[in-house]
Amino acid sequence: MRFADIIGYEDLKKALVGMADASRVPHALLLYENEGCGAVPLALAFSQYLACEHPINGDSCGVCPSCNRMQKLIHPDLHFVFPVNAGSKSGKTAAKDLSSAFYMEDFRGLLRSNPWFMEAQLSETLGLETKTWDINVLEARELSRELSLSAVENGWKTVLFYLPETLNVAAANKLLKLVEEPPEKTLFLFVTHQPSKVLQTIFSRCQSLRLPPQSPQEIVRGLSSRGYEGPEAEEQARLCGGSLGVALQSLQSDDRAEQYFDWMAGLLQALLKKDLLAALAIGDEISALGSREKQKAFCIFASEVLRKIFLLQRGQESLAGLSTSRAAALRELAGKVSRQFAVKMLPVLDKTAYYIDRNVNQKILFTDLVDRMSLYII
Ligand SMILES: [Zn+2]
Repeated sequence: MRFADIIGYEDLKKALVGMADASRVPHALLLYENEGCGAVPLALAFSQYLACEHPINGDSCGVCPSCNRMQKLIHPDLHFVFPVNAGSKSGKTAAKDLSSAFYMEDFRGLLRSNPWFMEAQLSETLGLETKTWDINVLEARELSRELSLSAVENGWKTVLFYLPETLNVAAANKLLKLVEEPPEKTLFLFVTHQPSKVLQTIFSRCQSLRLPPQSPQEIVRGLSSRGYEGPEAEEQARLCGGSLGVALQSLQSDDRAEQYFDWMAGLLQALLKKDLLAALAIGDEISALGSREKQKAFCIFASEVLRKIFLLQRGQESLAGLSTSRAAALRELAGKVSRQFAVKMLPVLDKTAYYIDRNVNQKILFTDLVDRMSLYII
């Protein structure tokens, strides 16, 4: 990521470039922001600038081998630390034996697709099921080992340290010395959303920089550079509180809801036409969603559609809260499916979500779901 890929924050970019050009890079920088404002992209752009072989006009060149590896997030001197926990992807491994390394591919995938990700999006990507996560001693141990080795490319070693407020006390104690006296040319880039919760011992050793919320105009430009334009993008730019990450998250969940609605409506229409094969094909697509969290999210979404149909069938349209784009399709479905359909299917969807959590074969689950729907629909 280059500084040019980040809209706005010109003063901060200038300050960072100034530090690098004057060889006054501190050992620890703390970037603090409201979630999703851009501290992670800024940290990535700074890491790339420090590693670039031919920086030009206050930015990395974007084309040298080093920039290339940075952009792919595979530069050997760029390290990532983020909180983890046991979840759907970690099998029987206990939380204390898990560190960022275990989830690194998923983390990189998220970072490549959206460096303005929100905490909840990270937790969902990693498949974490509880709300508490932390950075533990194992992480601290692994990090000190990695940093004790010299830089592979003879430049800066940077550590993008996401959410230092989640460091547990033992890990913080272990890390403190490293942050206080890091190996030469090592830079900690801490990104926090709650600076007041960062342990004082860490905080006091950092130079801190704040990313203020951005203007709606900047957010519109940021959204446009990520492919979102038009009235929805402009509306989100006004509502997101100056955080591009918040705006992107809303727009992405709209995309997802759109897909879920198409599936659910397609399923019901196919079953009403008694086209079981078409319905099963949609069931296959859902079972191939790739993450348990997304499959459960579909079940919750489908339940919501059924509730709306139930209310429409009972003349309670005002309670159903129909969006203009879906109202006609929902009214049509409500007119065709059995009045008992929603009542019979809601417990089935709950059960499906329950079994998804217990790792039952997903193809079987969704085939069974389609089967039940075909029984109750008329
Ligand atoms: Zn370069």
